[in-house]
Amino acid sequence: MDTRSLLRWRNLGVIAHVDAGKTTLTERLLWKTGAIHRMGEVHDGATTTDFQAIERARGITIGAAAVQTHWTPNGEPDHRLTLIDTPGHIDFAIEVERSLRVLDGAVVVFSAVDGVQPQSETVWRQARRHGVPLIAFANKMDRIGATFDTVLEQMRDKLGANPWAIGVPIGSESSFDGWVDLIGRTVEHWEDGGAAVRRPWNADDDAAYAAQRQQLIAAVAEHDDALASAYIEEREIDDALLRSAVRRATLAGKGVPVLAGAAFKTKGIEPLLDAIVHYLPSPLDRPPVIAESDRGDVELAPDPSGPLAGLVFKIAHHDHGPLAFVRLYSGTLKAGDAVWCSLGQRTRRVSRLAVVQANRTHDVEQAYAGEIVAILGWKDAVSGETLSDAAHPLVLESIQAQPAVLSWR
Ligand code: GDP
Repeated sequence: MDTRSLLRWRNLGVIAHVDAGKTTLTERLLWKTGAIHRMGEVHDGATTTDFQAIERARGITIGAAAVQTHWTPNGEPDHRLTLIDTPGHIDFAIEVERSLRVLDGAVVVFSAVDGVQPQSETVWRQARRHGVPLIAFANKMDRIGATFDTVLEQMRDKLGANPWAIGVPIGSESSFDGWVDLIGRTVEHWEDGGAAVRRPWNADDDAAYAAQRQQLIAAVAEHDDALASAYIEEREIDDALLRSAVRRATLAGKGVPVLAGAAFKTKGIEPLLDAIVHYLPSPLDRPPVIAESDRGDVELAPDPSGPLAGLVFKIAHHDHGPLAFVRLYSGTLKAGDAVWCSLGQRTRRVSRLAVVQANRTHDVEQAYAGEIVAILGWKDAVSGETLSDAAHPLVLESIQAQPAVLSWR
């Protein structure tokens, strides 16, 4: 196992105020990446992340805890994306904490009509407290009254965020039909039905958008030394330099790249997928986690050859039995292994491991630090359990469940 392949993994969540379009967007992301072939309609409850509807429709429950898919930005290697479900109606704040803990980055969806709503403020603060790097998607740009600038302004005013518009929407409301990428210098046009045509920007685009690109460079340069020196010395700033500066600054929590789209019309999905790859962290970009051990706290880096440490974060029920979803922070978990369970205080055998791809589970022999995998067949598994080597028992989570103070989905 080459640790460098972890650089091409993204474990992310989609978080939003209810009704901002989280379900629609998640489904479009799965559709564009080929994980699902047929899209449901949100209003009849048949979207892929609505797992109860899928259960009814297809006789399978996936829990939608973590769905794996992949995306290849133009001219770049393939990246694995794992979409982690964030709780809908939550009864315990600990559910929120746990979901923010197992993801490495998140897409926050705002409605470009309603702006930053109260639930978004709550979850924003929580994500920030957990140090989760974020990108934002101003959705519903096709609706009457939608404006990209309002979302940017409210992110500043209500969230104290530092939003970076990394592109410019073309047209508005019913004629919203394109996106200018200020970093990669491309223009994407959308046709009805979701087809997207992308081209490099030409001399006219340069005249129209160069000033906005300069503004973005100036804003990011305040938070990135490499970009700042190129900017001050008036050197040519190429796309790769700007992109890597935005990435570093986003991972450091200095700012939030913002895109615009209309999920319902499948507009803006490809630029968002590119941005997920470009600006959200890989498991290697996150700080080490701390686990308790009988020799005191230990720091765990995402190293497949390190001691085993995984957190069970969700139990889902499948036709063939329960699925215990695990985020692995360190070590390698193999089918057949016996592992120590911190809450059960006993050793259990892992007989089958699987990843969920849309509505199917797919058996795997082993899973590595940084991965999300499901253990099949563990009856009475509980979330919050740490899995480790019996010889080196570890505890990742010792917080107690608290009554909910939040409600978001
Ligand atoms: P969630 O509650 O955040 O999961 O939001 P949904 O995905 O269920 O969307 C809420 C409503 O907004 C549904 O009626 C969607 O069809 C609609 N919707 C979502 N995205 C868009 C969009 O981009 N444009 C328009 N016009 N409607 C949208």
